[in-house]
Amino acid sequence: MAAARRIRLDCLGSGFAFSSGRYWNGWLLNGRVLLDCPPQALPHLYRLGRSPADIDLVLLSHEHGDHIGGVDLFLLDAVHRHGERDRPWAIAGPTGIFERVRTVVGDHSHRVLRDDPRFAWIEDDGGARFEWAGVVVETVRMQHAVPDNGYRIHIDGAVVAYTGDTAPGPHIAELAEGADVLIVECGGGGPGLHCDWDDVIAIRHALPASTKVLVTHYDPLSVPPLPPLAGFTLAEDFAVYEY
Ligand SMILES: [Zn+2]
Ligand SMILES: [Zn+2]
Repeated sequence: MAAARRIRLDCLGSGFAFSSGRYWNGWLLNGRVLLDCPPQALPHLYRLGRSPADIDLVLLSHEHGDHIGGVDLFLLDAVHRHGERDRPWAIAGPTGIFERVRTVVGDHSHRVLRDDPRFAWIEDDGGARFEWAGVVVETVRMQHAVPDNGYRIHIDGAVVAYTGDTAPGPHIAELAEGADVLIVECGGGGPGLHCDWDDVIAIRHALPASTKVLVTHYDPLSVPPLPPLAGFTLAEDFAVYEY
């Protein structure tokens, strides 16, 4: 009998920063963990029959707009429509993410205050481990233009690894070690900032078959002919991936 599926990933968007017609990269994990918060996060959550009320944890990889552009309206909805719920939201990111979000939201707002008991802000520089709502999260520092935390998320007996934006390197192997799924970016655009197609293929080859690879944050207009690769999937907007 096949093992019960433990992971459900709803793709809120699979595009890179310039979009090329895709929605920006973002994911809903097992209905309650948001992996990045792209500009369209809120309407796409509702389209899935979800809302901020269902979310326990928001994991922000880094401060770029395609990854945090939806935070303002997520917080607005959380406070005004679900502010009376019985538990706070945790929002995690690299050190400084709170101030960055405050800058995006603006000083006029009372929605983003460090001591607002409805929100717990968790910041670190990689190498941290914390638990929230029964989910254990480990952070691994990635390589990007700005500080980027990759996440190893232990949830419902499975491990999901998520890079955010990163150049290739041994940090991705560290992030993905033993994971059931690696969600890896393929933003391209030159060395030192992002992975390209050769990189994500090499990552697939280097990982054991037990770790599935989901490629996201890519330009749909520049997908090359790809060899057939087991356990290697190009994410599509609104698709659901279960493992
Ligand atoms: Zn990005
Ligand atoms: Zn970025």
